[in-house]
Amino acid sequence: MQVDLKTGLLRGVRQVASPNFDSRPAGVAADLIVVHGISLPPGEFGGPWIDRLFTNSLPAEVHPYFAEVGELRVSAHLVVNRDGAVTQYVSFAERAWHAGKSEYQGREACNDFSVGVELEGTDTLAYDAAQYAALAEVVAALCAAYPRLSPDRLVGHSDIAPGRKTDPGPAFDWPHARRLIDAACAPRTRG
Ligand SMILES: [Zn+2]
Repeated sequence: MQVDLKTGLLRGVRQVASPNFDSRPAGVAADLIVVHGISLPPGEFGGPWIDRLFTNSLPAEVHPYFAEVGELRVSAHLVVNRDGAVTQYVSFAERAWHAGKSEYQGREACNDFSVGVELEGTDTLAYDAAQYAALAEVVAALCAAYPRLSPDRLVGHSDIAPGRKTDPGPAFDWPHARRLIDAACAPRTRG
């Protein structure tokens, strides 16, 4: 997995262009990776619904929850499905709209300086092994491409919006994720 630095897109992954992004503030580059959990409708996996949410085409009549969230203008840079498949919606060079009101180490508006990665899942159901593997590859590719990113610049949405957001939730196994990420990043940092 590799980032094309000209476009800010991951080579070889599915691309779906979301209109829900804008420019990062002048001179600001991503130095934080935010891990999220998402499922649409809540607790259900598969289907086109995350694509549809991020492209402002979620059909309100399909599920009551869709009527609630369908008017939101949101996105993430990446989504990792249950089977580990990765889709990119926004270039890493641009600001995706995933974190909302948030703060990390005294800096507000984390969308300005972060990459948002959504894992298809819920707070309480174990994430799939394929998702941890894909996340580790993604983080390694990001760290190789962008020097301000590193394995220790990885947080959960709940860490930057405590009291408001709970994802990726207690189901996300941070020690396991960090082991895989460290292993995936190690060969590159040695070189
Ligand atoms: Zn989130």
